[in-house]
Amino acid sequence: MTKFIFVTGGVMSGIGKGVTAASIGKILQVRGFKVTAAKIDPYLNVDAGTMNPIIHGEVFVTEDGGEIDMDIGTYERFLDINIPKDHNMTTGQVYLSVIDRERRGDFLGRCVQIIPHITDEIKQRIVQIATRNSSDVALIEIGGTVGDIESLPYLEAARQMKLEQGYENVLYVHVTLVPVLDVVGEQKTKPTQHSVQELRRIGIQPDIIVARSQKPLLAEPKKKIALFCNVEEKAVFTSPDIQTVYETPLVLDRQNLGEYLTERLKLSRRKANWTDWEKTVNSFTNPRHEIRIAMCGKYTELADSYVSVNEALRHAAAFCNSKLSIDWIETEVLEDDASALQTLSKFDGVLVPGGFGSRGTEGKIKAINYARLRDMPYLGICLGFQLATVEFARSIGLQDANSTEIDPDATYPVIDIMPEQKRVEYKGATMRLGAHEITISPGTIAEKLYRTRRIYERHRHRYEVNPGYLDQLTKAGAVFSARNTEGTRMEILELPDKYFYFATQFHGEFKSRPNRPSPPYYGFIKACLDKKLGMPKPQFWA
Ligand code: GLN
Repeated sequence: MTKFIFVTGGVMSGIGKGVTAASIGKILQVRGFKVTAAKIDPYLNVDAGTMNPIIHGEVFVTEDGGEIDMDIGTYERFLDINIPKDHNMTTGQVYLSVIDRERRGDFLGRCVQIIPHITDEIKQRIVQIATRNSSDVALIEIGGTVGDIESLPYLEAARQMKLEQGYENVLYVHVTLVPVLDVVGEQKTKPTQHSVQELRRIGIQPDIIVARSQKPLLAEPKKKIALFCNVEEKAVFTSPDIQTVYETPLVLDRQNLGEYLTERLKLSRRKANWTDWEKTVNSFTNPRHEIRIAMCGKYTELADSYVSVNEALRHAAAFCNSKLSIDWIETEVLEDDASALQTLSKFDGVLVPGGFGSRGTEGKIKAINYARLRDMPYLGICLGFQLATVEFARSIGLQDANSTEIDPDATYPVIDIMPEQKRVEYKGATMRLGAHEITISPGTIAEKLYRTRRIYERHRHRYEVNPGYLDQLTKAGAVFSARNTEGTRMEILELPDKYFYFATQFHGEFKSRPNRPSPPYYGFIKACLDKKLGMPKPQFWA
């Protein structure tokens, strides 16, 4: 029998509900329970693929090609599992299938309504997610904040599930914020009280409250939360700001969250084995070196739009005992300001991440050119791979080489739309997506980094290296060291005579884990560190 843990959020968004939910998963996983996780997004989009990452955060790509909410990435990193795309449920998906069945005639004679038809569909999907994997525990995070109109059907479904599945099989965790007023320095619990009142009005009495705050929750506010929110005091947990998010499971379990969960859900009592996780956390908290990376993109694409890239860099830095600082360089500025380009010299490495559209691309090409000519470690991801190819082509005389995404009339279209993409009319879920098999050539840096010649990495793109220019590019020294199995699609570009110059068509960041960095990211960070320490060409995994 699978146990269901519903995680809701109160007071405001962006307080780390996903990290809390993933930490609960970890707490159960280190006790030997099989855990899975799902995220509900109450918006009408069918998936996150068509949304702007600047507003909604990164679009995470799953192994099975889903373009989904970035919180699923948090679950994958914490729990070290691959989560299928249908674990990200949206209102768009739910309504689409109910309306489709109505048209088919499945409900003939009846009036189709939110309760029970939409709520039944939600419950059925939740049960399917949990049972298909025969998980001991399924974490179900409900996006948004309690009180939103959009999330009402999901809360109603979660409420019904306790009646149907039984008291000891369903548990509700509410994550809230406890702000501190500067003037008096007091931890204020009123917003939490209100948000729990809102939940109880819908019929959900939370079992556990996790209070996010700058500092640990003091005894008095904790008592108050217990009293006013109608929970036991030992069920109020504090989650203060900490150095690395990966420490959160430890912080919560030290307050006996694991014991409380297993008792309440009548799970067998098992000893937690934190050894590996503690080792991982230590690698993040005790750095010996420091590395500075220039992330060259569009200025507005901040923090959340590249979560997985940032995390992959941090995993690699921790692995190399290094502290990492990432500076955003606005590439539009590099386009006509030569002195701005010079600022790149103070960094240990240059990274151009994935992206879409033409704005800022000439600046990105300038940054790539700067890194290549000065032999600075370079890592290119997806668009950063395509533009590295463009920059190289221009350097060997194909003067206005470009990607047709940027200049449809380029004389030398070295990056071009994939033939099968030309027929695509619908924008949703039609890119080349998800994990594809890749074959690495022997004797290359790619082989040294991956230590195998067959890999599976995740993709999200419509354009690729134009095979018509392969001969010219490779004769001039570009090495496409990995390709798809048929050998027709270029997956990795490396310049072997450089200190470290590596670019991938795929997104290694989606498979990076805190204790197992993605090989390209590891290679890049190791090269940045070795170069900074004045070492000869980097030795990997030594
Ligand atoms: N815009 C490019 C393409 O569609 C790169 C995509 C990306 O960087 N994810 O191929």
